[in-house]
Amino acid sequence: MRSIVIHKAKDLRIEETQLDTLKAGEVLIRIATGGICGSDLHYYNHGGIGDTIKVKEPMILGHEVSGYIEELGEGVSGFAVGDLIALSPSRPCNNCQYCAEGLQNHCENMRFYGSAMPFPHIQGAFREKIVANANQCVKANGLTAGEAAMGEPLSVCLHGVRRAGEMLGKKVLITGSGPIGTLCVLAARAAGAAEIIVTDLEDAALAYATKVGADKVINMAKASADLDQYKAGKGYFDVLFECSGAAPALAAGISTMRPRGVVMQLGLGGDMTVPMQALTAKELDLRGSFRFHEEFEIAVRLMQQKQIDVRPLISHTVKLDDAIKGFEIAGDRTQAMKAQIEFST
Ligand code: ZN
Repeated sequence: MRSIVIHKAKDLRIEETQLDTLKAGEVLIRIATGGICGSDLHYYNHGGIGDTIKVKEPMILGHEVSGYIEELGEGVSGFAVGDLIALSPSRPCNNCQYCAEGLQNHCENMRFYGSAMPFPHIQGAFREKIVANANQCVKANGLTAGEAAMGEPLSVCLHGVRRAGEMLGKKVLITGSGPIGTLCVLAARAAGAAEIIVTDLEDAALAYATKVGADKVINMAKASADLDQYKAGKGYFDVLFECSGAAPALAAGISTMRPRGVVMQLGLGGDMTVPMQALTAKELDLRGSFRFHEEFEIAVRLMQQKQIDVRPLISHTVKLDDAIKGFEIAGDRTQAMKAQIEFST
Protein backbone atom coordinates (compact mmCIF):
# COMPACT_ATOMS: atom_id res chain seq x y z
CA MET A 1 0.00 0.00 0.00
CA ARG A 2 1.05 3.57 -0.64
CA SER A 3 1.74 6.17 2.05
CA ILE A 4 2.75 9.84 2.08
CA VAL A 5 6.15 9.99 3.72
CA ILE A 6 8.19 13.04 4.72
CA HIS A 7 11.97 12.54 4.50
CA LYS A 8 13.09 16.12 4.99
CA ALA A 9 11.93 19.64 4.12
CA LYS A 10 10.37 19.67 0.62
CA ASP A 11 11.16 15.97 0.25
CA LEU A 12 7.75 14.34 0.40
CA ARG A 13 7.32 10.96 -1.29
CA ILE A 14 4.45 8.64 -2.09
CA GLU A 15 5.94 5.25 -1.36
CA GLU A 16 5.15 1.68 -0.44
CA THR A 17 4.91 0.88 3.27
CA GLN A 18 3.91 -2.22 5.20
CA LEU A 19 0.51 -2.85 6.69
CA ASP A 20 0.42 -4.01 10.31
CA THR A 21 -1.30 -7.32 11.10
CA LEU A 22 -4.79 -7.07 12.56
CA LYS A 23 -4.98 -7.99 16.24
CA ALA A 24 -7.81 -8.41 18.73
CA GLY A 25 -9.65 -5.16 19.45
CA GLU A 26 -8.45 -3.59 16.22
CA VAL A 27 -10.01 -2.81 12.86
CA LEU A 28 -8.58 -2.64 9.36
CA ILE A 29 -9.55 0.65 7.72
CA ARG A 30 -9.38 1.70 4.09
CA ILE A 31 -8.56 5.39 4.38
CA ALA A 32 -11.01 7.59 2.44
CA THR A 33 -9.95 11.20 3.07
CA GLY A 34 -7.08 12.94 4.81
CA GLY A 35 -6.99 16.66 5.62
CA ILE A 36 -3.68 18.52 5.45
CA CYS A 37 -3.03 20.32 8.74
CA GLY A 38 -0.70 23.18 9.60
CA SER A 39 1.67 20.76 11.33
CA ASP A 40 1.84 18.56 8.19
CA LEU A 41 2.71 21.73 6.27
CA HIS A 42 5.45 22.61 8.76
CA TYR A 43 7.01 19.18 8.29
CA TYR A 44 6.71 19.57 4.51
CA ASN A 45 8.05 23.12 4.28
CA HIS A 46 10.60 23.18 7.13
CA GLY A 47 11.22 19.52 8.07
CA GLY A 48 9.91 20.24 11.57
CA ILE A 49 8.00 22.57 13.86
CA GLY A 50 9.88 25.41 15.55
CA ASP A 51 13.41 24.78 16.77
CA THR A 52 12.73 21.69 18.85
CA ILE A 53 10.71 19.27 16.70
CA LYS A 54 12.66 17.94 13.71
CA VAL A 55 12.08 15.02 11.34
CA LYS A 56 14.97 12.64 12.07
CA GLU A 57 13.69 9.59 10.16
CA PRO A 58 11.12 9.04 7.39
CA MET A 59 7.65 9.59 8.81
CA ILE A 60 4.18 9.05 7.36
CA LEU A 61 2.32 12.35 7.75
CA GLY A 62 -1.33 12.94 8.56
CA HIS A 63 -3.73 12.86 11.47
CA GLU A 64 -7.06 14.17 10.09
CA VAL A 65 -8.54 11.10 8.47
CA SER A 66 -11.70 9.18 7.76
CA GLY A 67 -12.15 5.76 6.22
CA TYR A 68 -14.19 2.63 5.72
CA ILE A 69 -14.03 -0.43 7.93
CA GLU A 70 -12.69 -3.36 5.91
CA GLU A 71 -12.18 -6.01 8.54
CA LEU A 72 -12.95 -6.45 12.24
CA GLY A 73 -10.40 -7.91 14.64
CA GLU A 74 -11.39 -10.45 17.26
CA GLY A 75 -13.76 -9.13 19.90
CA VAL A 76 -14.71 -5.93 18.09
CA SER A 77 -18.40 -5.07 18.19
CA GLY A 78 -20.47 -2.04 17.24
CA PHE A 79 -18.96 -1.72 13.77
CA ALA A 80 -19.71 -3.41 10.46
CA VAL A 81 -17.63 -3.85 7.34
CA GLY A 82 -18.30 -0.85 5.09
CA ASP A 83 -19.03 1.64 7.91
CA LEU A 84 -17.68 5.16 7.34
CA ILE A 85 -15.72 6.20 10.41
CA ALA A 86 -13.82 9.23 11.64
CA LEU A 87 -10.50 8.03 13.04
CA SER A 88 -9.14 9.79 16.10
CA PRO A 89 -5.36 10.26 15.94
CA SER A 90 -5.30 10.56 19.75
CA ARG A 91 -3.80 7.40 21.27
CA PRO A 92 -3.18 7.92 24.98
CA CYS A 93 -1.74 5.09 27.08
CA ASN A 94 -4.69 5.06 29.53
CA ASN A 95 -2.18 4.08 32.16
CA CYS A 96 -0.32 7.21 33.28
CA GLN A 97 -1.38 9.69 35.97
CA TYR A 98 -2.90 12.17 33.48
CA CYS A 99 -4.89 9.47 31.73
CA ALA A 100 -6.13 8.35 35.16
CA GLU A 101 -7.27 11.93 35.84
CA GLY A 102 -9.19 12.07 32.54
CA LEU A 103 -6.64 14.41 30.96
CA GLN A 104 -5.79 12.10 28.06
CA ASN A 105 -4.55 14.98 25.91
CA HIS A 106 -1.72 15.30 28.44
CA CYS A 107 -0.84 11.61 28.38
CA GLU A 108 2.84 11.10 29.13
CA ASN A 109 3.03 8.35 26.53
CA MET A 110 0.78 9.85 23.84
CA ARG A 111 1.17 8.29 20.40
CA PHE A 112 -0.54 10.96 18.30
CA TYR A 113 -0.42 10.15 14.57
CA GLY A 114 2.20 11.87 12.44
CA SER A 115 4.25 13.45 15.20
CA ALA A 116 8.02 13.87 15.23
CA MET A 117 7.91 14.99 18.88
CA PRO A 118 9.02 11.58 20.21
CA PHE A 119 11.74 9.43 18.64
CA PRO A 120 11.17 6.97 17.03
CA HIS A 121 8.53 9.21 15.45
CA ILE A 122 4.87 8.29 15.57
CA GLN A 123 3.87 7.30 12.05
CA GLY A 124 0.81 9.06 10.67
CA ALA A 125 -2.36 8.04 8.87
CA PHE A 126 -1.84 9.28 5.28
CA ARG A 127 -1.82 5.75 3.90
CA GLU A 128 -4.21 3.67 1.84
CA LYS A 129 -4.92 1.31 4.71
CA ILE A 130 -4.33 1.39 8.44
CA VAL A 131 -4.86 -0.94 11.38
CA ALA A 132 -6.24 1.01 14.34
CA ASN A 133 -7.78 0.36 17.70
CA ALA A 134 -11.56 0.14 17.46
CA ASN A 135 -11.89 2.71 20.26
CA GLN A 136 -10.28 5.34 17.99
CA CYS A 137 -13.18 5.01 15.56
CA VAL A 138 -16.41 7.00 15.61
CA LYS A 139 -19.16 6.02 13.20
CA ALA A 140 -19.78 8.88 10.79
CA ASN A 141 -22.98 7.73 9.05
CA GLY A 142 -24.65 10.56 7.17
CA LEU A 143 -21.45 12.56 6.73
CA THR A 144 -19.27 12.76 3.65
CA ALA A 145 -15.78 11.29 4.01
CA GLY A 146 -14.45 14.85 3.78
CA GLU A 147 -16.62 16.02 6.66
CA ALA A 148 -15.66 13.01 8.76
CA ALA A 149 -12.00 13.95 8.26
CA MET A 150 -12.79 17.41 9.70
CA GLY A 151 -13.68 15.77 13.02
CA GLU A 152 -10.10 16.18 14.23
CA PRO A 153 -9.55 19.93 13.71
CA LEU A 154 -13.11 20.59 14.91
CA SER A 155 -12.27 18.69 18.11
CA VAL A 156 -9.30 21.01 18.68
CA CYS A 157 -11.69 23.98 18.55
CA LEU A 158 -14.36 22.36 20.73
CA HIS A 159 -11.66 21.72 23.31
CA GLY A 160 -10.59 25.38 23.06
CA VAL A 161 -14.18 26.56 23.51
CA ARG A 162 -14.58 24.28 26.50
CA ARG A 163 -11.35 25.64 28.02
CA ALA A 164 -12.67 29.19 27.52
CA GLY A 165 -15.67 28.45 29.73
CA GLU A 166 -19.10 30.10 29.46
CA MET A 167 -19.78 31.11 25.85
CA LEU A 168 -23.49 31.98 25.97
CA GLY A 169 -24.01 35.59 24.91
CA LYS A 170 -20.28 36.35 24.80
CA LYS A 171 -18.49 38.73 22.46
CA VAL A 172 -15.67 36.84 20.80
CA LEU A 173 -12.58 37.92 18.87
CA ILE A 174 -10.74 35.35 16.78
CA THR A 175 -7.28 36.27 15.50
CA GLY A 176 -6.18 34.12 12.55
CA SER A 177 -8.68 32.93 9.95
CA GLY A 178 -7.10 29.60 9.02
CA PRO A 179 -8.84 26.24 9.48
CA ILE A 180 -8.63 26.47 13.29
CA GLY A 181 -9.81 30.10 13.42
CA THR A 182 -12.77 29.44 11.12
CA LEU A 183 -13.69 26.21 12.93
CA CYS A 184 -13.58 28.26 16.16
CA VAL A 185 -16.23 30.52 14.61
CA LEU A 186 -18.46 27.47 14.21
CA ALA A 187 -17.61 26.00 17.62
CA ALA A 188 -18.09 29.26 19.53
CA ARG A 189 -21.37 29.95 17.73
CA ALA A 190 -22.67 26.46 18.49
CA ALA A 191 -21.83 27.13 22.15
CA GLY A 192 -23.89 30.35 22.13
CA ALA A 193 -21.47 33.19 21.31
CA ALA A 194 -23.46 36.35 20.53
CA GLU A 195 -20.96 38.25 18.40
CA ILE A 196 -17.89 36.94 16.60
CA ILE A 197 -15.28 39.11 14.89
CA VAL A 198 -12.33 37.62 13.01
CA THR A 199 -9.00 39.20 12.02
CA ASP A 200 -6.37 38.04 9.53
CA LEU A 201 -3.93 39.52 7.01
CA GLU A 202 -5.51 37.81 4.00
CA ASP A 203 -8.88 38.70 2.45
CA ALA A 204 -9.31 35.23 0.94
CA ALA A 205 -8.96 33.63 4.37
CA LEU A 206 -11.39 36.12 5.93
CA ALA A 207 -13.97 35.34 3.24
CA TYR A 208 -14.21 31.84 4.71
CA ALA A 209 -14.86 33.25 8.19
CA THR A 210 -17.74 35.27 6.74
CA LYS A 211 -19.00 32.16 4.93
CA VAL A 212 -19.28 30.23 8.22
CA GLY A 213 -21.03 33.04 10.07
CA ALA A 214 -18.56 35.58 11.47
CA ASP A 215 -20.42 38.85 12.17
CA LYS A 216 -17.53 40.96 10.95
CA VAL A 217 -14.01 40.47 9.61
CA ILE A 218 -11.05 42.86 9.74
CA ASN A 219 -8.01 42.69 7.47
CA MET A 220 -5.22 43.83 9.79
CA ALA A 221 -2.87 44.40 6.84
CA LYS A 222 -5.23 46.89 5.20
CA ALA A 223 -7.61 48.23 7.84
CA SER A 224 -6.14 47.67 11.30
CA ALA A 225 -7.79 50.92 12.47
CA ASP A 226 -11.15 49.09 12.28
CA LEU A 227 -10.12 47.29 15.45
CA ASP A 228 -9.56 50.54 17.38
CA GLN A 229 -13.22 51.04 18.30
CA TYR A 230 -13.02 47.86 20.40
CA LYS A 231 -10.14 49.24 22.49
CA ALA A 232 -12.26 52.16 23.78
CA GLY A 233 -12.99 52.32 27.49
CA LYS A 234 -11.61 49.18 29.02
CA GLY A 235 -12.15 47.05 25.94
CA TYR A 236 -14.97 45.06 24.37
CA PHE A 237 -14.42 41.31 23.96
CA ASP A 238 -15.10 38.66 26.59
CA VAL A 239 -13.10 35.94 24.89
CA LEU A 240 -10.13 35.94 22.51
CA PHE A 241 -9.26 32.83 20.52
CA GLU A 242 -5.72 33.49 19.32
CA CYS A 243 -5.36 31.10 16.38
CA SER A 244 -2.49 32.65 14.41
CA GLY A 245 0.46 31.99 16.67
CA ALA A 246 1.69 35.50 15.82
CA ALA A 247 2.74 37.88 18.61
CA PRO A 248 1.28 41.03 16.93
CA ALA A 249 -2.13 39.32 16.71
CA LEU A 250 -2.01 38.36 20.39
CA ALA A 251 -1.03 41.91 21.39
CA ALA A 252 -3.73 43.51 19.23
CA GLY A 253 -6.29 41.06 20.60
CA ILE A 254 -5.38 41.73 24.22
CA SER A 255 -5.76 45.47 23.67
CA THR A 256 -9.45 44.91 22.84
CA MET A 257 -10.27 42.67 25.81
CA ARG A 258 -12.58 43.84 28.56
CA PRO A 259 -11.62 43.24 32.18
CA ARG A 260 -11.76 39.62 33.36
CA GLY A 261 -11.87 38.37 29.78
CA VAL A 262 -10.37 35.04 28.76
CA VAL A 263 -7.45 34.87 26.33
CA MET A 264 -7.32 31.41 24.74
CA GLN A 265 -4.07 30.60 22.98
CA LEU A 266 -4.56 27.94 20.30
CA GLY A 267 -2.04 29.07 17.69
CA LEU A 268 1.33 27.35 17.85
CA GLY A 269 3.97 29.83 16.79
CA GLY A 270 6.75 29.13 19.21
CA ASP A 271 7.44 31.42 22.16
CA MET A 272 6.07 34.94 21.89
CA THR A 273 6.01 38.16 23.85
CA VAL A 274 2.88 38.73 25.93
CA PRO A 275 1.65 42.25 26.93
CA MET A 276 1.80 41.25 30.59
CA GLN A 277 0.97 44.68 31.97
CA ALA A 278 -2.43 44.72 30.22
CA LEU A 279 -3.02 41.15 31.38
CA THR A 280 -2.42 42.20 34.97
CA ALA A 281 -4.30 45.50 34.92
CA LYS A 282 -7.37 44.07 33.16
CA GLU A 283 -7.29 40.86 35.23
CA LEU A 284 -7.33 38.73 32.10
CA ASP A 285 -7.10 34.95 32.17
CA LEU A 286 -4.46 33.60 29.79
CA ARG A 287 -5.15 29.95 28.97
CA GLY A 288 -3.63 27.40 26.66
CA SER A 289 -5.46 24.73 24.71
CA PHE A 290 -3.75 21.68 23.25
CA ARG A 291 -5.28 18.90 21.19
CA PHE A 292 -8.45 17.20 22.59
CA HIS A 293 -9.69 13.82 23.61
CA GLU A 294 -13.36 13.14 24.31
CA GLU A 295 -14.33 16.09 22.08
CA PHE A 296 -13.66 13.91 19.03
CA GLU A 297 -16.88 11.97 19.35
CA ILE A 298 -18.78 15.18 20.16
CA ALA A 299 -17.41 16.80 16.99
CA VAL A 300 -18.73 13.98 14.82
CA ARG A 301 -22.14 14.11 16.55
CA LEU A 302 -22.45 17.89 16.13
CA MET A 303 -21.80 17.52 12.41
CA GLN A 304 -24.27 14.63 12.12
CA GLN A 305 -26.92 16.67 13.93
CA LYS A 306 -26.26 19.55 11.47
CA GLN A 307 -25.45 21.88 14.36
CA ILE A 308 -22.07 22.50 12.76
CA ASP A 309 -21.53 22.51 9.00
CA VAL A 310 -17.84 22.35 8.09
CA ARG A 311 -18.39 21.78 4.37
CA PRO A 312 -17.84 25.42 3.29
CA LEU A 313 -14.29 25.16 4.68
CA ILE A 314 -13.21 22.22 2.51
CA SER A 315 -11.73 24.20 -0.36
CA HIS A 316 -9.72 21.60 -2.27
CA THR A 317 -9.71 17.83 -2.72
CA VAL A 318 -6.88 16.15 -4.64
CA LYS A 319 -6.21 12.49 -5.48
CA LEU A 320 -3.42 10.59 -3.70
CA ASP A 321 -1.30 10.75 -6.88
CA ASP A 322 -1.45 14.56 -6.66
CA ALA A 323 -0.71 14.72 -2.93
CA ILE A 324 2.38 16.90 -3.32
CA LYS A 325 0.38 19.38 -5.39
CA GLY A 326 -2.15 19.23 -2.56
CA PHE A 327 0.50 20.27 -0.04
CA GLU A 328 1.49 23.22 -2.25
CA ILE A 329 -2.16 24.30 -2.54
CA ALA A 330 -2.74 23.85 1.21
CA GLY A 331 0.13 26.22 1.94
CA ASP A 332 -1.27 28.97 -0.29
CA ARG A 333 -3.55 31.10 1.87
CA THR A 334 -4.71 33.16 -1.12
CA GLN A 335 -6.69 30.14 -2.34
CA ALA A 336 -6.91 27.30 0.18
CA MET A 337 -8.72 26.89 3.47
CA LYS A 338 -8.76 23.13 4.12
CA ALA A 339 -7.16 21.00 1.42
CA GLN A 340 -7.85 17.28 1.61
CA ILE A 341 -6.41 14.21 -0.09
CA GLU A 342 -8.74 11.56 -1.43
CA PHE A 343 -7.22 8.13 -0.82
CA SER A 344 -10.27 6.14 -1.93
CA THR A 345 -14.00 6.53 -2.43
ZN1 ZN B 1 -1.33 8.18 29.51
